[in-house]
Amino acid sequence: MNVIRKPWLRAAALLGLSSLALLAAEWTRPIGAQAQSAANDFNDSHFHLTNYIQQGIEPRQFLQIMGTRVSRSTLFGIPLQQTWSYSNSGDFAPTYYLHSDSPLYYYSFTDAYIASVYRALSKEDQARFDPMITGFNPADMYGVDHIKRVLKTFPGVFSGIGEFSIHKEFVSSKIFGETASLTNPALDRILDFAAESGLVVIIHNDIDMPFAKQNTEPVYLTQMKALLKRHPKTTIIWAHIGLGRIVHPVQVSEESATRNPNQMEIVEAMVTDPAFNHVSFDISWDEVAKYAVATPQSIQRVVTILNRYPDRFLFGTDTVAPAGPGPYFAVFDIWAPVWRQLTPDASLKVRRGNYERIFDEGRRRVRAWEKANVQ
Ligand SMILES: [Zn+2]
Repeated sequence: MNVIRKPWLRAAALLGLSSLALLAAEWTRPIGAQAQSAANDFNDSHFHLTNYIQQGIEPRQFLQIMGTRVSRSTLFGIPLQQTWSYSNSGDFAPTYYLHSDSPLYYYSFTDAYIASVYRALSKEDQARFDPMITGFNPADMYGVDHIKRVLKTFPGVFSGIGEFSIHKEFVSSKIFGETASLTNPALDRILDFAAESGLVVIIHNDIDMPFAKQNTEPVYLTQMKALLKRHPKTTIIWAHIGLGRIVHPVQVSEESATRNPNQMEIVEAMVTDPAFNHVSFDISWDEVAKYAVATPQSIQRVVTILNRYPDRFLFGTDTVAPAGPGPYFAVFDIWAPVWRQLTPDASLKVRRGNYERIFDEGRRRVRAWEKANVQ
């Protein structure tokens, strides 16, 4: 989603690190050659086939992009449709949520579309994809019924739900109807059903508000942790480690009077707490990759945590209907300074192993649920 790059530079500048960030960007350059080695293949835990106006690429085009370098991938659209409001933008047809002031609405047909293009593939090609249900409203007590209806209408297709969003910068406030919340029982019903059926959950929830002050506890962290703790039997992937384009990693200054934990300390506390054993984090989105490689220090922090807890992180691109291999693989290649410092074990798990473990189990359990519940 390469629309705005400057906020990242602004975040780096806020840290007084702009020159180091540029240095880090320099470092990524020679790695392109190394990326041809065997350690550059992966499974994609976060991939959008279509965009905010339900346009995109065909699975066959995506298979060509994946080639031999990507074995498997999740497959989902985007649950929200950007309205083209003539009174708002006239002849300008917005294709992205930042292109217009007009609202977004839940476009449930996305699930039927994903199921139909998946079903048109050969068995061999189908085995490379894990389609996900996204077209439900997480603020609607009936949301869970949509998910069940999709499984019953298209048995044998889906492995999980998501990426769906609760708090997302710029997006949450633009959606028609009630704003989603981590405390809404409608969301609990959805996560309860995911536990029952085995559906893998990919949830986007910003850890904090945009432009949050330093040295303050992230606004949505407490509610998010409470939600996760309420659903210990649900397999949950917290997308982007809770970060966004302008929801930058939680920072704590040296002079802070109260010592609040920073982003990496928050994540480390979660992966070491048994109450979150069912939770993993995806490191998808080029915006997240830029935070990771912003400085030699940030690279070191990320390398340390991935090497220490390699079972808890999954790589994903978060690309949206990429035009070709260039923009698709670029996201992986931004991480080059991190990849080359991971242990072989950690690298393999983050790139492939955790995906296979989590989604194989999701597939197996959802097929079993369908067998028992679909006539
Ligand atoms: Zn995404």
